Amino acid sequence: MKFTLLGCGTSTGVPLPGCACKVCTSGHPKNHRDRTSACITLDDGRVILIDAGPDLRYQALKHKVRRVDSVLFTHAHADHILGIDDLRSFNFSSKKRISCYGTKETLDPITDSFSYIFKPRPGYAGGMVAQLDPHEISNDTLAEIEGTAFTLFPLVHGNMTVTGFRVGDLGYATDFNEMPERGMRVLEGVKYLFIDGLRFEPHNTHITITQAVEIAQKLKAQQTYIIHTTHTIDYDETNALLPAGIELGYDGLSFEF
Ligand SMILES: [Zn+2]
Ligand SMILES: [Zn+2]
Ligand SMILES: [Zn+2]
Repeated sequence: MKFTLLGCGTSTGVPLPGCACKVCTSGHPKNHRDRTSACITLDDGRVILIDAGPDLRYQALKHKVRRVDSVLFTHAHADHILGIDDLRSFNFSSKKRISCYGTKETLDPITDSFSYIFKPRPGYAGGMVAQLDPHEISNDTLAEIEGTAFTLFPLVHGNMTVTGFRVGDLGYATDFNEMPERGMRVLEGVKYLFIDGLRFEPHNTHITITQAVEIAQKLKAQQTYIIHTTHTIDYDETNALLPAGIELGYDGLSFEF
């Protein structure tokens, strides 16, 4: 399988329009962060997308994502779902419906917000809407997506529960301020860890970079990439502060696992 990090920015993306800070104006390609999203490409070419954020169309073009077979939604915040309409392009090219996986807590607001896709009114007369099939999953167990086992676990994100997962020796935990015991168990000894780490200053729904480092070290992850970072995080300056085996993620990071 191949993992590709399509974006590793916080909800605003980096740079922020109108911001004149050092990071937003740096021009360093790794200080450009689209909204956090990833994809897993199976050996036969099928693609599982992790979240469909507002940058999806641009990310797919930039990182040459030519098909999407399934989407795993981690939670229903705007920065993880607002690209849902652009999934249509993949329906057009594959002539197939796309399976969308999420917990009930995640799928309910998605199917409500995009009711024209999931609950179209009789007599709808527009163009083709995205052809998506919702599938409910539970954070306490495994989900089989495109024949691949995802071990799921819940993450606390303010008053929301986010879905984290492990596939083989890769773990992914975005958007959380607390990782309950199940997540620590599932991720123990993981080879590649993608973990939230918003910034250095505390935040009530995200962990800090310092906390991300502590969790990664507890888990004994071999290689950790910190994601969902804000414009207060300069790529080179922050990487220089991080211990060996822990670094910032960057858009387009891709490897076989
Ligand atoms: Zn987010
Ligand atoms: Zn800025
Ligand atoms: Zn969120």
